[in-house]
Amino acid sequence: MLRPNPHYAELKDSYLFYNIAQKVKAFSEKNPGAKLCRMGIGDVSLPLCDVAIRALREGVDDQAKKETFRGYMPECGAPFLREAIANFYASRGVKLDVDECFVSSGASDELGDILDLFDKSSPALIIEPAYPAYIDASVIAGRQIVRLPSGKENGFLPSPSENLDADLIYLCSPNNPTGAVFPKAKLQEWVDFANKRGAIILFDAAYEAFIEDPDLPRSIFEIDGAKTCAIEICSLSKTAGFTGTRLGYTVVPKDLEREGANFNAMWVRNRTTKTNGVSYILQKGGAAIFTPEGQKQIRENIQVYKSNAKTIASALTEAGLWNCGGQNSPYVWAQCPDGMGSWEFFDFLLERGNIVGTPGVGFGTCGEGFFRFSAFGDVEETKEGARRIVELLGK
Ligand code: PLP
Repeated sequence: MLRPNPHYAELKDSYLFYNIAQKVKAFSEKNPGAKLCRMGIGDVSLPLCDVAIRALREGVDDQAKKETFRGYMPECGAPFLREAIANFYASRGVKLDVDECFVSSGASDELGDILDLFDKSSPALIIEPAYPAYIDASVIAGRQIVRLPSGKENGFLPSPSENLDADLIYLCSPNNPTGAVFPKAKLQEWVDFANKRGAIILFDAAYEAFIEDPDLPRSIFEIDGAKTCAIEICSLSKTAGFTGTRLGYTVVPKDLEREGANFNAMWVRNRTTKTNGVSYILQKGGAAIFTPEGQKQIRENIQVYKSNAKTIASALTEAGLWNCGGQNSPYVWAQCPDGMGSWEFFDFLLERGNIVGTPGVGFGTCGEGFFRFSAFGDVEETKEGARRIVELLGK
């Protein structure tokens, strides 16, 4: 008889977003007149920029004509988009070969699929609070997990220590949920640790476009030695509003090798087996994002979210709540007031302020007592939410 993958039984139920949805539903049924301020969503609220829409339309038109019609696309990405991605890195001082850049359907797919490259016996290190998919994808793959808690004392950016027993290291910068960004020196510590140990870093740069401080690294490949120990996973979801359109990219350096195996070659083999490429239309839309006009237009949307983040952080500070993030990320991470637990604060905000946020404990036990606010919401709703926070909690 076929045996199911036993590791699914080890997955913890995803209580977080289910619980939030249930609580909000129950509250709205009881209080039909209440106008909610949604400050918890990780999805974008602004539409795609004009250049992307135009390019997507052109892509559709191309598919309507015999001369321009495209069938299967190359599994690792259309050359025009891989080149645009390599040039984008080059413009920021990171030199990559075009065939080190792989086009993907988004970061989530890659975070799961990339695990195919590593033997299951290699434990995975996850810094908590963490984006829940890291743990779930590793559990499904049957991998042992080492959790490294972080907190206020290290700015939610822990350093490696010699006794850490992990061969696969997840780093997320800017971080979801804390908004913390690794400075170069700290990232260098992780790169040196990984190279010394022979570990590999999976660097999730889904929010790199939110970094405004020029001294902070937007790519792990800005760090010396990263090409021999890191894979970078990126997404146009939050950068360019592609959450529903789906497009991302992954960098696997050619210098990345262990025990004679070359991970770039292995990833090519994996992609040519497991995908038939991303649609021509989407890649056409994605390439438009990397043009100067595309970069200008996505900046306008990102600025809207950044301004929301500022509104949220100022309100929290005015209300006397310790908070971080927001400046180089779309998330503001706050400490709950008066020793409240994360869910207690969730209920308080929902019932007293009709505000919906995300309890920090949902990102790991060390997130207890913290709360995540997202800047991806509607501008007016965010302003109103901020006003209510001050009104509710301002001393
Ligand atoms: N990585 C992080 C840290 C995220 O927060 C998210 C989505 O919220 C993703 C990856 C997934 O992004 P995508 O939409 O490209 O699958």
